[in-house]
Amino acid sequence: MLTLLLIVLAIVGLLAVMRREAGAVPAIAVLGVLGLVGVLFEAYVIGVILLILAAGVAVTGLPALRRSWLTPRLFTTFKKIAPKVSATERTALEAGSVAWDGELFSGRPNWQALNRYTDDGLSEEEQAFLDNQCAVAAGMCNAWDITQVRADLPQALWDYIKQERFFGMIIPKEYGGLGFSAKAQSMVLQKLSANETLMVTVGVPNSLGPGELLLKYGTQEQKDHYLPRLADGREIPCFGLTGPRAGSDATSLPDIGTVCKEVIDGEEVLGLRLTFEKRWITLAPIATVVGLAFRLFDPDKLLGEEEDRGITLALIPRDTQGMEIGRRHHPIGSPFMNGPIKGKDVFVPLDTIIGGEKMIGQGWRMLVECLSIGRCITLPSGATGTARYALGWSGGFTRVRRQFNVPVAEMEGVQEPLARMAAMAYIAQATVYQTANLIDHGEKPAVPSAILKSQLTEFQRTLLGDAMDVHGGKAVTLGPRNYLGIGYSANPVAITVEGANIMTRNLMIFGQGAIRCHRFVLDELAAKDANDINAFDKAFFGHTGMIFGNAARAFTMGLGIGKPSVPFEGPALAYAQDISRLSAGFGLCADAAMASLGAALKKREMLSARLGDVLSNLYMTSMVLKQWQHGSKVEGEEALLHYSCRFLLHRAEQALVETFDNLPNRAVGKVLNAIVMPTGRRWDKPHDDLARDIAKRVSTHSPLRTKLLANTWDSDDGDFPNPLAQYNALLVDYERAEAIYRTVNKAYAKGELPQTALHPEARVEAGLEAGIVSDEDAVFMREFETKVLEMLTVDDFAYDAFVRDRDTLIDHNAAKSPAENIESAPTPNTTPPAAPSAVDKTPEPETPETPRTR
Ligand SMILES: Cc1cc2nc3c(=O)[nH]c(=O)nc-3n(C[C@H](O)[C@H](O)[C@H](O)COP(=O)(O)OP(=O)(O)OC[C@H]3O[C@@H](n4cnc5c(N)ncnc54)[C@H](O)[C@@H]3O)c2cc1C
Repeated sequence: MLTLLLIVLAIVGLLAVMRREAGAVPAIAVLGVLGLVGVLFEAYVIGVILLILAAGVAVTGLPALRRSWLTPRLFTTFKKIAPKVSATERTALEAGSVAWDGELFSGRPNWQALNRYTDDGLSEEEQAFLDNQCAVAAGMCNAWDITQVRADLPQALWDYIKQERFFGMIIPKEYGGLGFSAKAQSMVLQKLSANETLMVTVGVPNSLGPGELLLKYGTQEQKDHYLPRLADGREIPCFGLTGPRAGSDATSLPDIGTVCKEVIDGEEVLGLRLTFEKRWITLAPIATVVGLAFRLFDPDKLLGEEEDRGITLALIPRDTQGMEIGRRHHPIGSPFMNGPIKGKDVFVPLDTIIGGEKMIGQGWRMLVECLSIGRCITLPSGATGTARYALGWSGGFTRVRRQFNVPVAEMEGVQEPLARMAAMAYIAQATVYQTANLIDHGEKPAVPSAILKSQLTEFQRTLLGDAMDVHGGKAVTLGPRNYLGIGYSANPVAITVEGANIMTRNLMIFGQGAIRCHRFVLDELAAKDANDINAFDKAFFGHTGMIFGNAARAFTMGLGIGKPSVPFEGPALAYAQDISRLSAGFGLCADAAMASLGAALKKREMLSARLGDVLSNLYMTSMVLKQWQHGSKVEGEEALLHYSCRFLLHRAEQALVETFDNLPNRAVGKVLNAIVMPTGRRWDKPHDDLARDIAKRVSTHSPLRTKLLANTWDSDDGDFPNPLAQYNALLVDYERAEAIYRTVNKAYAKGELPQTALHPEARVEAGLEAGIVSDEDAVFMREFETKVLEMLTVDDFAYDAFVRDRDTLIDHNAAKSPAENIESAPTPNTTPPAAPSAVDKTPEPETPETPRTR
């Protein structure tokens, strides 16, 4: 009996010590005292075991004892198995800062650290720009005209965005830019996502590229010359890193610069001779200044002793002799400017190097440092904006589209994707806004930038698929009335650029996070590199304490013992507490995976991706809670909070379970499962009741819909009809219309209206005649139905409208025999697709509606 009691007390005591990461001394005290009690009261076996354990903890836990014999042995082994960190990886790891991502990695997140980032919202000037200039720009876009007719933004829109300094959002006011906060930039790009070509065109110069590079690293002369010209659009920048040989592995770029001298106007000038081939460079076809990444060599040692000077960045004017620029690629779904750049033996003076001579060889560091901010803003904001527009259109369409005599939004099969879309839009909005807020507080969130880029563009992919599904044929049929299909087909661009999603998810989030965000790993690796045994001892045993602490916290919290203290209340409380529990489990699994796989983990990308998913979902849940805590709440939002948090935490747990199941060491997987989920999984997928409630709200005129669509382009005063404004207006009238539908349908079912009144308009007219619909209601319904029909209508075109080469046109219905038809068919066209000039031959598609004049 005493033995059992001592075992229980030892376990409880040790768990309490480990949970608090209280260190070796309390653990030795617990084991020592219980061991002595065992020996004194004749429970010798357990007493001796506990005393031996106490001695073991003393040897490993007390620095003075362990440093003399244990640490040297561990250090020797560590040096053999620790992964090698390449110079490129080290640069990436050292870029940016660690904030909330580090807290989640620690297993014991300090929520006060997140709350420290207060939110002051947008300035009046930023809000005014969002309300006015952004609405005007969005109102000048017609997706059909842009993609199918002119393959460009209209000239008036180019002039407007330059004049209003859309390209200068990140450029400070003293250089003539707008000097906007990260939050404002994000909200501008969300609003401009009404049209993806506009969003990309404005987003790219404000993201990673010459503007940001000059701001951070440019010489004063370069800043003074370029920044004002970039801000007002006199200069259009592009940035060329990618080439045919270097895509995801961008540092393998084969583009070369050689230091040399050239005689210009009789004077010898020190400069670079560049040979390069870049592709997919956004804005290149129209750029006036090209940011270029290349590897610099100095074979004649004109600049110093080193020959290979590393990746270097320069800013080269378009009209530099030898530069081949101007051709276009054809990105899927969106004709934003994108094309190749080439050059052979192009000479540029030394002062074209961004930051001057001192920044030679610093190119990769400069790029990854800038990426940590730009990648948090541009694509995630585009994804969030797209999500919100797609949700707004889908809610509107599914409410006014009736099948089986009811709006399709009333059908559960449609409610499921509608609710999912609402949650993804809500999560994306919170994540991008709160992360932008961290940036406004000076953070450079490197790991979150990979999370946001890949997760939110994946949301966009799912959400656009859902939007297409609930629209049925309406979105499948291309034409000026199709507000969704063109954006849907452009989605792969966001998936691919700024780090393709597969690589970002599988390699970067956990791969970088495990080293960058971990409290001890970077120190351990640095100690290894510096051969510093004391630093290693400190980091390694701190790490060991953290592992035991995480195991104890994950296990006890998994049993429901000891809820962590979090600064949340009400519906957010349980989710915040569970983030703390899962963070402990995640921290433990991350360490177990690193310890059991060592350097091999780098190649186990499927495991790395799942661990990255745990971190990503915990990060996004935290952002949702922060937004909830500090923002004003509207009716129905609580259901969306529950749906979103359950959706994310379910995904986090799923990723953990799949990690346990796939660890090569099955025993480690099973032990982890038992510690982290002692009572099984806690989060099911969101309940159907929540989905029904949310779907109803986003497909009707409700405070929740209004909140989700806040700061989108929703006015109908642009050059072209705005589908979102049209749906919003219909939803305001919907309840009245629904009551009339019900009245006439009921009367029709009872046989009180003529059998030939088959569609709503006919039934309203029949109802008017039968005296069951008032004159005012009939007038109202005629107008309402006309507007609904307009939203349901799709375009059709002349038979030959899509043909580029009229010689290939077959008249299938010519009054000839089939044999004659074959004979007269043109020979197969084996020539490459028509050159841009062939577009001239394309007939103007019939545009069923006349654009509004401004
Ligand atoms: C429309 C468009 C605009 C662009 N704009 C610019 C620009 O302005 N400037 C610029 O410099 N570049 C630009 N790019 C290039 C873009 O950044 C690259 O396309 C991107 O980095 C991926 O390279 P890749 O397409 O060659 O894919 P690849 O590198 O060939 O990759 C193919 C697949 O393999 C995966 N993969 C690669 N390595 C790994 C790995 N280690 N682990 C797991 N998966 C991996 C990738 O995720 C991808 O799915 C643009 C590209 C496009 C299409």
